Amino acid sequence: MRWCASPINEGYTSLLQFSELGLSSPLLEAIAAEGYSDPTPIQSQAIPPVLAGRDLCGIAQTGTGKTAAFALPILQRLAASPRRPTPRTCRALVLSPTRELASQIADNFRAYGVGTPLSTAVVFGGVPIGRQREQLARGVDILVATPGRLLDLIENRWLTLAGVQVLVLDEADRMLDLGFIHALKRIVKLLPPQRQTLLFSATMPRAIALLADDYLDDPVKVVVAPAATTAERIDQRVIFVPNERKRDMLATMLRDPAFARVLVFTRTKHGADRVVRHLAAAGIAAAAIHGNKSQPQRERALAGFRDGEARVLVATDIAARGIDVDNVSHVINFELPNVPEDYVHRIGRTARAGAAGIAVAFCSDEERAYLRDIEKLTRCPLRTMSAPPVPAAPQDDNGASDQNVAARPQRHGQKSHPSPNSANAASVQRARRTSKESPRRKGAATASSLPAFLHRPPSDRAVKEGLGNPNRRRVKRLRENGAR
Ligand code: AMP
Repeated sequence: MRWCASPINEGYTSLLQFSELGLSSPLLEAIAAEGYSDPTPIQSQAIPPVLAGRDLCGIAQTGTGKTAAFALPILQRLAASPRRPTPRTCRALVLSPTRELASQIADNFRAYGVGTPLSTAVVFGGVPIGRQREQLARGVDILVATPGRLLDLIENRWLTLAGVQVLVLDEADRMLDLGFIHALKRIVKLLPPQRQTLLFSATMPRAIALLADDYLDDPVKVVVAPAATTAERIDQRVIFVPNERKRDMLATMLRDPAFARVLVFTRTKHGADRVVRHLAAAGIAAAAIHGNKSQPQRERALAGFRDGEARVLVATDIAARGIDVDNVSHVINFELPNVPEDYVHRIGRTARAGAAGIAVAFCSDEERAYLRDIEKLTRCPLRTMSAPPVPAAPQDDNGASDQNVAARPQRHGQKSHPSPNSANAASVQRARRTSKESPRRKGAATASSLPAFLHRPPSDRAVKEGLGNPNRRRVKRLRENGAR
């Protein structure tokens, strides 16, 4: 499929316009207000059958526009039979694995449904249940929920699912990974058998295929990003670096203002906190987002990252799921994931909405097996880059590393970081300000010590010429063999 490489519309000429998908004027107006010009592949393929009431199984990653692919037809179908929802019920139920994703889906429903009388509520754990109970008291049209909190509300008789007409299982693979299978089975038993069911998953392991068999009735199948395809618009690199050098390496990179909006991934929550602390000691402000953080803390961290106040967000896989932030300039895999699919999800956070992006993986000797698994899954060897020089860290009185430097001013004739879609000018300015907060120290690495390809996302031409696949013979062999 030609468009599997490009998450959103870049490089893909949709044959259909939004106006040809059968959507009503209020929805078309909302789409225009969002600035969407053409439907994405999943939208072109999913909206007409879902509007017609079909079940659907969509294999699509976050970043493909899948939320609108289900939200738009659901809104239209519910708006076509307007009636006040019965107290303590909902008409459409969207299950999401994480709170962040649930919030984003609910926001999307509200934005797309602005011209309809439909109501949307979102419920998830980690916050007091009282307000959610009040929201449900009068009934809602669309309810977006994480499975655990949904069951709490049902057990307390604050909600019944007897009136659900449409069920969406979003990021079904992740729901299973997070151990929600039992909750999911309990929830589905409480739903009317006569309903429309839409299932979206980034990957199609056997467990998801079984789920689809059980829950979907003659579904339309739409595949827009085969599980093993890594977005080709991402310049992916790997640096082989011992674990004990990773934190200094990270700090060195983040001092470069071209790293304007950076997601750093760790495997564990404590690892994320440790990275944030180390960066703070190095004069680089960063926030962490993971399961041990309270919901308000997570929301604050995400909002700060989204509006550009914090340019570095350190995340674990679970917490990062569903983070929808445009213009992420770089994804840094501080630790490689032990689940190779997580790598695909991680790097998909850059190169959203048609942008190109840069992903750097730090790989220690112990992680080489993870790297092999990733390359086997993506069938794309990561380009090795040599480690940029990291200055020996002098210790301050408290024993903390002290490598605070300002980014070196641009040399005459040196290209400023053009980063057309990733690092917007304001973010770069902010980053520069941030880096200036710290006094410059002799011997510290500066922006110029990093190779140029880290300064800008790949060009369209580079993408066309096979950016992620520099070693063509090796790639060809990998593709032919299907494995290493
Ligand atoms: P999703 O895969 O639903 O998480 O969507 C990823 C991003 O793409 C979100 O920021 C959406 O607002 C955006 N998006 C969705 N549909 C379109 C479209 N047709 N054109 C451009 N951007 C879109």
